Amino acid sequence: MCQSGLETSGHMFWECERVREAWALLKIFPAHTNIQFLSFMDLLWYGVFEAKWDALQLENIVIVTWALWRSRNEARTGGEKKSVSKTVNDALEYLAEYQACVKDPDKKQLVWVLWFEMRMVILLVLLARRFGPL
Ligand SMILES: [Zn+2]
Repeated sequence: MCQSGLETSGHMFWECERVREAWALLKIFPAHTNIQFLSFMDLLWYGVFEAKWDALQLENIVIVTWALWRSRNEARTGGEKKSVSKTVNDALEYLAEYQACVKDPDKKQLVWVLWFEMRMVILLVLLARRFGPL
């Protein structure tokens, strides 16, 4: 995620400074924790079974992970290098729009919703291919 050159799963989702900054903004891990995650699966496992995150917290984690990954790829291909806080805020805004859409059946913005969900599925497939089965 950063310029450290480390691309292990543990670095990408836990040790990386940019990722730690994002998790701090989401306030979902206890401060000064000494938990270690070696993979994204470990992190999700912790959230679901130990920290008992609710659906929204899980969605936040997934969307922010996706946004950080996307931002990293954009920066690598010469695109804008966004700050972590902007990346996180944009991702949460995007998620809020999606949730408003889903909750309001009158809007019927089905195409947009499907497009979003398709991207989430693509994210999970890409993560699985990159880091082994989720
Ligand atoms: Zn990094």
